[in-house]
Amino acid sequence: MKPFANLGDAPLTPETLYFLPLGGSGEIGMNFNLYGFNDQWIAVDVGITFADDTTPPGIEVITPDPSSLKTLGERLIAIIITHAHEDHVGAIGYLWPALKAPVYCTGFTASVAERKLGEAGLLDQVALHRVLPGERRSFGPFEIEWIALTHSIPESHALCLEVGGLRVVHTGDWKLDPNPLEGVHYDDRRLMALGDAGVDVVIGDSTNATVDGWSGSELDCYRGLLDVISQEQQRVCVTCFSSNTARLASLGRIARETGRRITILGRSLFQYVATAKANGYLREFPELVPPEDLDYLPKSEQLILATGSQGEARAAMARLARGEHHSLVLEADDCVVFSSKVIPGNEKKLFRLYDLLSSKRIRVVTEAEACVHVSGHPCRDELTWMYRALQPNTVIPVHGEHRHMVAHAELAQQLGCSALTVQNGDLVSLTTSPPRVEAKIASGRLGLSGTSLVPLTDRALNERRALALGGMLSITVVLDKKSRLVGQPQIELMGVPSGELGGEALKAELTFAVEEILAEASSRVLQSDDALREMIQRELAHSLHQWMGIRPRQLVQVIRI
Ligand SMILES: [Zn+2]
Ligand SMILES: [Zn+2]
Repeated sequence: MKPFANLGDAPLTPETLYFLPLGGSGEIGMNFNLYGFNDQWIAVDVGITFADDTTPPGIEVITPDPSSLKTLGERLIAIIITHAHEDHVGAIGYLWPALKAPVYCTGFTASVAERKLGEAGLLDQVALHRVLPGERRSFGPFEIEWIALTHSIPESHALCLEVGGLRVVHTGDWKLDPNPLEGVHYDDRRLMALGDAGVDVVIGDSTNATVDGWSGSELDCYRGLLDVISQEQQRVCVTCFSSNTARLASLGRIARETGRRITILGRSLFQYVATAKANGYLREFPELVPPEDLDYLPKSEQLILATGSQGEARAAMARLARGEHHSLVLEADDCVVFSSKVIPGNEKKLFRLYDLLSSKRIRVVTEAEACVHVSGHPCRDELTWMYRALQPNTVIPVHGEHRHMVAHAELAQQLGCSALTVQNGDLVSLTTSPPRVEAKIASGRLGLSGTSLVPLTDRALNERRALALGGMLSITVVLDKKSRLVGQPQIELMGVPSGELGGEALKAELTFAVEEILAEASSRVLQSDDALREMIQRELAHSLHQWMGIRPRQLVQVIRI
């Protein structure tokens, strides 16, 4: 099926509810989903994802490509954010100028969205509306209700959409935590009531669909952390996701219970603690000890909270491990706790960090050694509970890599639901029974390069990758009116190791090779810049590969005087 470049070009049927994922299906990250009915559309979540081994160098942040929505204009009537994780709200500042619709979310999420819009200089342009948990609002033909769920951040919500005679539950990210420690409990009564009223479709979180059992509670994690920290005699440093308010609340409580004081290292932890407090969370969080006062505090009374649980090179944890943090030097017999999971792709970075700490005789505790982390996503028993409560006709797995979505679909089928596995760009009719993919819409990824968003397929980014892999060779030849060489060809090497030969000798060899090529070129080739460039590139590529087994990029300039 060839994708339509613009959603507006796709043949849409009136009185049909459409679902269109443009990010987050087939991947964990950059969630971006659309629902449309009678040509009025809403977007649910506008997230980012982070670079991995396949991303061109220099790109760290990736957003969905919204260009297929260009023709929607004012028919995009609302952007709804389910919760404040980066994969749901992270792209709001980058993509809002392309979407230009009012934004709706609950208070904690709104504070995070506000910060992102402020950083993008958009605060005065965006209508950001705060919604209350449990509230119902109308957006054109859509009636939408926010339903409280537990997750690993305050205020994660499922959305119940009623439109065109259908009831659709978009779960967002969730788990069933009987003891979430911070924030409200999941609204099981409302979920069961919706199930009794009849749910047509659930579109939901697949992250842990391959994992048996339950995800565990923040209370279990509190106990695990208390157990580890209370046994330590020296300094303890814990790193976790800054947005995990319940985890921070646990650490605050543990500090009090073990006679320690908390010091925070890292900007995002300060930001999230402030955001949480401003929204009524972390009420009992202890007063902080500023980093500059640590010298006055015995090591046995120090509990350091540091950013960088994924081994990010510039974050506090990695700088502490390298001994490069300006406020603190970790010492032998200190303990570092990674109260977080290893996000796939970050293994190498993190294992290097564990090793670096271990080489300094610092004890490293991860979720492999103790219960110091619980997942925020539903495992199979929680998914089963949800589908027994909601009793949907159809389940559409999203928020997962392909294998997670397939496992999710199979589980839903075992529970008597029909299931449809989708990919980014699938335009699904939810009105059809069962729902089916009606068309394909262009979807893609944009990379943040400086302050611009560039398609990851952009030629310049692919060139950058080639340059990073093989370096570059620049050749300038100056020819006179009779196409005779004037002076020597100028050769420059960038990122090309010259091996045993040495840089100057390699340049001399290449200069000689170019002179030879020109001496042997036909007059037809000599008179055409393109033909000459092509011949030099071909011959030099061949020679360099033979001499040294390398294929650098080449920039050949022909100047005629
Ligand atoms: Zn998520
Ligand atoms: Zn989340």
